[in-house]
Amino acid sequence: MKIIQVAIPVPLRKVFDYRLPDKLTNADKLSIGSRVSVPFGKKSVVGIVSSLDVDVHYDESKLKSIEAILDDFPALSTHIMMLGAWLSEYYLHPIGETLFTMLPASLRKDNVLTECKADYFQIPESIDRKVAVESLSSAKRQLSLFRELMDGMRRKADIKNVYSTQTVNALKDKQFLEQVEITEPQGGWQNKLDVTEKFDANVEQAIAISAINRSAGYGGFLLDGITGSGKTEVYLQVLEKILNTGQQILILVPEIGLTPQTVSRFKTRFGDIVASMHSGLTDTQRMQVWHQARRGDVGIVIGTRSSIFLPFKDLGMIIVDEEHDDSFKQQDGLRYHARDLAVYRAVKLDIPLVMGSATPSLESLHNANTKKYHHLTLTSRAGDASLPSQHLLNITGQSLLCGIAQGLLDKMQIQLAQGNQVLIFVNRRGFAPSLLCHQCGHVETCNGCESPFTVHSLARNLQCHRCGEHTYLPQKCPQCGNHDLSTQGQGTEQLEQFLTQYFPDYSAVRIDSDSTRSKARLNEILEAINSNKHQILVGTQILSKGHHFPNVTLAIVLDLDALLFSADFRAPEKMGQLITQLSGRAGRANKTGEVWMQTHQPQHPLTQDLVNNGFMDFSRSLLEEREGASLPPFSFQALLRVESRDIDKVMAFLNYAKSMLSQFKNVKIIGPMPCLIEKKQGRMRYQMIINCRVRAYLISAMRQVLVELEAHKLSSRLRWQVDVQPQDF
Ligand code: ADP
Ligand code: ZN
Repeated sequence: MKIIQVAIPVPLRKVFDYRLPDKLTNADKLSIGSRVSVPFGKKSVVGIVSSLDVDVHYDESKLKSIEAILDDFPALSTHIMMLGAWLSEYYLHPIGETLFTMLPASLRKDNVLTECKADYFQIPESIDRKVAVESLSSAKRQLSLFRELMDGMRRKADIKNVYSTQTVNALKDKQFLEQVEITEPQGGWQNKLDVTEKFDANVEQAIAISAINRSAGYGGFLLDGITGSGKTEVYLQVLEKILNTGQQILILVPEIGLTPQTVSRFKTRFGDIVASMHSGLTDTQRMQVWHQARRGDVGIVIGTRSSIFLPFKDLGMIIVDEEHDDSFKQQDGLRYHARDLAVYRAVKLDIPLVMGSATPSLESLHNANTKKYHHLTLTSRAGDASLPSQHLLNITGQSLLCGIAQGLLDKMQIQLAQGNQVLIFVNRRGFAPSLLCHQCGHVETCNGCESPFTVHSLARNLQCHRCGEHTYLPQKCPQCGNHDLSTQGQGTEQLEQFLTQYFPDYSAVRIDSDSTRSKARLNEILEAINSNKHQILVGTQILSKGHHFPNVTLAIVLDLDALLFSADFRAPEKMGQLITQLSGRAGRANKTGEVWMQTHQPQHPLTQDLVNNGFMDFSRSLLEEREGASLPPFSFQALLRVESRDIDKVMAFLNYAKSMLSQFKNVKIIGPMPCLIEKKQGRMRYQMIINCRVRAYLISAMRQVLVELEAHKLSSRLRWQVDVQPQDF
C-alpha cells in the first residue's frame, strides 16, 4: 500500500500520513506539490502532497485515504515547494499554513486545476480547400476568414474581434469551419517584445548597467541612487538584456508604488509583455497572472509583496524597487519579508537580483559593506532638477499655532502667494510616544541604554523597550522643572482645519490612510494636487512614497522628535528614510525647494549628520550604533507576542516561555513588556524580544521552545504569534 504525506493549513508543525487508494483514476497525476482533498477531523479539506512513498512504522490500516487528486499538474512546482520548506524553517511557521500562503486564493479551495484551454476555429480535415475557395467567391467576408484559417487554426476570441457572428455561422453551416477546444500553446511573449528607444546612460548609470550585465548567475546588487537619479532607467536597460535571451523578469514594488504610470513605463519600452499584480485584483485576475507567469505568457510581472510566490516558467532576474519599504514585510499570518525571499529565489535559480532605493535599509547596506551585495551608486539627478535644501528649526519654548511656528506660517504665506504648493508632514503611525519637555527639549531616557522611554498611559509609567526598565511618569521636567511635558503631536484632521481657517484663500487637502482608503480615491486626490486644485497638502507617511509633487516648494515636518525619539530601535533609520524621501518628492521641476523640520533638539548628532552629510553618512553612523548595541543587522531577533483578556494568563505564558529560553546561552531575552498598543478590543497585549548574534542558534532555540509552548495548557486559550526579524514592535 502506498502512503503519502500531506501538508494541511492548520497551525500544527507537522504533515499528515494518508493512504493512496487504488481506485483513483488520475493517480499518475500525483506528485510532490499536488493538491489533494483529504478527510481531516469531520471535514474534507485541501492539502498539498509533501512526500510520496513514505515508510510508516505503525498499523497503517488505521490511516484514512485521500479522496481526490485535484491537480492535472502540481500547483506548487519543485522550486516553490523548496522555497516553502525554507520559509517555514526561517520564519518558524507551520508548513501547511506556509504552503497555503504561497498559493493563489483560488487554489486554496478545492477547485480543479487544469491546463488553460481555449476554443479555436479550424477547417475540418475532410474539406477540399480549393473547391471551398471557389464556392465562396461571391461571399467576400467568409472567403477572407476561410483564407485566414487556411494558414492554421485561430483562437475563437481573436476571430470574434474581427468577423461578425453571421460570417462565422455561415461558414459553420457550410461545414467549412469547426470549433475545437485545445490546450493553449504556452509562451509566446517573446514575439511581442518590441524595444523602443532608450536614453543614453550617464556615466554612473553605465557603470551600474555593465556591472549587472556582467553578472553570470547569481549576483546581489544594491542600486543606491538618490530620487530622480535614473534607477528605473537602469532597471529598464538591464532588463532588456535578460528579455532578449527569452527569460522573464519579476519586479517587486511597494503597494503604493504600483501605479498605472509605473506599468505603462515598462509597456512603452518593451511592448505588451507586462502583467501587474496587486491587492486591487480579484481572485480570478490573480489566478490569471499566476498562469501567465507559469506558462511564460508574459515577459515581465510587476507586483507587490506576494508576487514573490509566482511560479515563473523561466525567471531570469528579480528587481526589488524601493527595497527599504515596510510594505514588503507581511504583518500577519506568515510574517515573511519579500526581500529575503527574493534573495533566496535568486540564489537558488542562480540569477541576478537588483535592489534599488534612494534610502537603502541598514540590512542591505550591511550586506553591501560585507561584500554580500555589490554596491552601485547614482549620486546626481538625471534631469536638471536640484534637491531641496534641508533645515532644522528649534522650537524649544516657542509659542506654536496648532503645532506650527509663526516663522514657518510666514514662509508658507510667501510660497502660496507665488502660486506654489506647500506640504506639511504629520507623523501618526507606528511610533511610540516619548516624553518631551517643550521648554528645554529634555527627553526622558533609560539610564542603562540611553534609549528614550516610552509613555504607557494605561500603566501610567515610562518603559524602556530596549531593556525592559520602567519608572514612574514624572509630573514635571526633571531637568528644568517645567510642567509643559508633551507626548503627542497634532493630528492631521485638526491641522487641516486650522490651515483652512488660517489661509482662507487656499485649499488644504488631507492625505492619510483615512482619507485614501481606496486606491481610486488616492489617485483622485493626487490628480487634484497635480492640477493645482489644492495648494496645502497635509499628510502622513503616504506623502513620502513614490509620488512626485513638482509644484511643492516648501515641505514642513511638524514633529521631527516624534520620529527620532521612539522605542523602536529602527525609528532613527525610518526617520532618515522618511525625511530623505520627502525631500525627493518636492521641487522636482526646476523649482528649488526647502524642507523645514521642527525639533526641540536641533543639535542632535543624528539629525545634524542627516542634514549636513546626507543619508549615506547618516546610515553609516546608525550602523555603528547598531553594532555597538548588538542590534540587527548585527544580530537576529524573534518576537513573541501574547494577547488575552486575562493578564494573568498572558504573564504566565510569557514567563514560561522565558524560563524555557533561559536555558539557551547566547540568547538575550528582553521583556516581557507591554506592546506599544497595550490593550486592543479588550485584550491585554504583551511581548518579549529574543535577540541572538547567530541566526541559526536563535532559530534552533526557538524551534525547541515552540514545541514546549504548543504543548502548554494555556497555548490554545490565548492568542499568540512569533515574528522572526520583526519590523514593527
Ligand atoms: P529614479 O527611478 O531614480 O527616481 P528615473 O529613472 O525615474 O529615476 O529618472 C528620473 C528622470 O530622469 C526620468 O524622467 C527619466 O526619464 C530621466 N532620465 C533617466 N535617465 C536618463 C538619462 N540617462 N538621460 C536623460 N534622462 C534620463
Ligand atoms: Zn533601557
